[in-house]
Amino acid sequence: MISNTWSISNKDFNKNVKLNETLFTIANGYLGIRGNFEEGVPQSVPSTKGTYINAFFESAEIQYGEKLFGFPNKSQSIVNLIDAQGFQIKIDKDIFSLFSGEVIDYNRSLDFRDAISNREIHWKSPKGHEFLITFKRLVSFEVKELFLIQLTIKSLNYSGEIEVISSVDGNVSNMVSEDDPRVGAHSAKSLEIEDLTTIKNFSFVTACTENTKQKVVCGIAHTTSANNEQVEIQEKSIHHNFKYLVKVGDEIAITKYAVYTDSRRHSSSFEQNNQLLSEAVNKNFEHYCDQQKKYLQDFWSKADVCISGDDKLQQGIRFNMYHLLQSVGKDKLSNISAKGLTGEGYEGHYFWDTEIYIFPFFLFTNPELAKNLLEYRYSILENARNRAIEMGHNKGVLFPWRTINGDECSPFFPAGTAQYHINADIAYSIIQYTEATDDFQFLIDKGMEMLIEISRLMFDVGHFRRDGLFCIDAVTGPDEYTCIVNNNYYTNTLTKHLFLKTVQFYKELQENSPEDLHELESKLNLQNDEILNFENAGLKTFLPFDEELQIHPQDDSFLNKKVWDFENTPKENYPLLLNYHPLSLYRYQVCKQADTILSHFLLDSGDDNLQIIKNDFNYYEKITTHDSSLSTCIFSIMSNRVGQYSKAYDYFMNTARLDIDNLHHNSSDGIHTACMGGSWMSIVFGFAGMRLDKGRLSFRPNLPKQWKNLKFSISFKNRQITCSMDKDKMTFDLIDGEPLTVLLDSKEILIK
Ligand code: BGC
Repeated sequence: MISNTWSISNKDFNKNVKLNETLFTIANGYLGIRGNFEEGVPQSVPSTKGTYINAFFESAEIQYGEKLFGFPNKSQSIVNLIDAQGFQIKIDKDIFSLFSGEVIDYNRSLDFRDAISNREIHWKSPKGHEFLITFKRLVSFEVKELFLIQLTIKSLNYSGEIEVISSVDGNVSNMVSEDDPRVGAHSAKSLEIEDLTTIKNFSFVTACTENTKQKVVCGIAHTTSANNEQVEIQEKSIHHNFKYLVKVGDEIAITKYAVYTDSRRHSSSFEQNNQLLSEAVNKNFEHYCDQQKKYLQDFWSKADVCISGDDKLQQGIRFNMYHLLQSVGKDKLSNISAKGLTGEGYEGHYFWDTEIYIFPFFLFTNPELAKNLLEYRYSILENARNRAIEMGHNKGVLFPWRTINGDECSPFFPAGTAQYHINADIAYSIIQYTEATDDFQFLIDKGMEMLIEISRLMFDVGHFRRDGLFCIDAVTGPDEYTCIVNNNYYTNTLTKHLFLKTVQFYKELQENSPEDLHELESKLNLQNDEILNFENAGLKTFLPFDEELQIHPQDDSFLNKKVWDFENTPKENYPLLLNYHPLSLYRYQVCKQADTILSHFLLDSGDDNLQIIKNDFNYYEKITTHDSSLSTCIFSIMSNRVGQYSKAYDYFMNTARLDIDNLHHNSSDGIHTACMGGSWMSIVFGFAGMRLDKGRLSFRPNLPKQWKNLKFSISFKNRQITCSMDKDKMTFDLIDGEPLTVLLDSKEILIK
């Protein structure tokens, strides 16, 4: 990958085709198109053709060998949709392909400032005719349903006919992977084609999922100089044929407009598709290019991070932020999936990755998008209520570990449903949102309801043991190599935080908005003793501590287990989950990812127990494999916190270019959105040491010695602040909003 800090580009068309399809995906949070070659690839070249709509899914009965009570019944999988990428170019009986004739020059790029991907090819056909062929494509941020491709062909030495066939193809299916959940679903599912129609040169393919009955319509239309358009409808696809007569030096151009509408968002998906397509055709390609630029300009003015002194890292971090923007759902039906809209890994599911790893980036750069993520959780509150009942709880809500539509669909409960911390994670982000935006209206309308319902559930799942301490048994913390334990430190600390903040907000609302609170109390039938119970449980939450080692055990039994034999574990056995039965892992002290250390990052902003944090860091670092891509960013942040600065940089290097450099060898199946969010966190929370505590921002900067300067922007309580760090100082500029006091190395600074 060539290093330009605002784009990625690639010259080796025949290497890592599938990986590049992921990296060159274009998307807008609703629609995502993998970077497939319009002309296709030979069957021998590994490739995944993919078009996805966020939250458009199929479901099927989950097949269990042995199904017990409360196991989810149905899977949910994002669906690979009708493909509108196809262009076939025929010249003098040769069909254009990068794998035939000769590729004299090739370059593909994706620019993060305009979200346009560009492929330029100097091609010599087998018969020796030479052409400059370009494909420009974008998925519009202005009209979420719209995907555009502009194809140009310039003849360098050929006179004669060029035939271009543009297709819309419903013959698609999903990826299958029986062995690795990170790749795709268990069984192939395909869309049922309902209709293929052409109306006045607009062609539409309508298809439906078999079980969820979700309908998608893909309409295509073209603008070009040729006036001999022929349309052919086949069994599952429609083909538009254009013929051009060219002389040497001539250039032809054709723009393809593809519109996707779906029955979850569009009440009449066919009519709306037709309408949107007409509107799109009436504007030209340049119009949409200009709009992309404007959208991205606004985004970067609030989000950019500038690292001077390291171009590769600079490129990596911008690539990550750009992909997060492309992946994040911008309506209430959708969220951000573990692989964004770049692939089918983890079946398009939403996890805690959203709240703990991705939410902060949006919260501090684009709070409206962060708010939307919380709105999504609110929209699935009823599902979470039903799930709580199914799981035997008297009150409250239990959010699903993995889901698209709000129902739990994690079939493996030890590392799935048992991760009750998802509840506390969502609460954590509601609290962060409230404290970083002062959006009390959201708290009144939705946030407080979620906090109370989550508190109810966590109160119900825990209990006061004989010594009066509040304990939580039989849950799994973030570390998926240690399952179903009592008193997971992370879960307990986040739950304590949840209880105490819920009580604090309750009291504040009592004071400031008693009527709204009263309404909510009646809606939820909140009993007098409930808030007292939360307070009591919050004050008395048991947090495991080992006096001898002066560390926090990850859970009650963790330190009694044998330490994993790391010395005799061959390198090729990592990630361990692919080579050892889960029980072989659960019996040992071995962590897949940050757990106790993550809790320290989220909750311990002061210096009070810094020595214990250091002890914990040193202890858990030795037994953590980082087999999850969610791990190294947290260790980077916490290396800074405990003063191990060179490690902070090394861990960060593992995070910032994880997908671009395919460090986990699986980016061809999709990006790692949590890790991308983690790379932003490593910079802002790690190297700049930013924390939000009691509604105040504090900074503890440590610029890596490899960098000259670091600059980033923060949105906070209706202000925009630019933060700038160099070797020996950190400065702040108020770009927008009222003056603000922050803490810099514990000293108050007024930013004016
Ligand atoms: C991690 C989880 C994460 C999931 C999806 C797993 O490998 O252990 O913490 O939620 O991937 O990213």
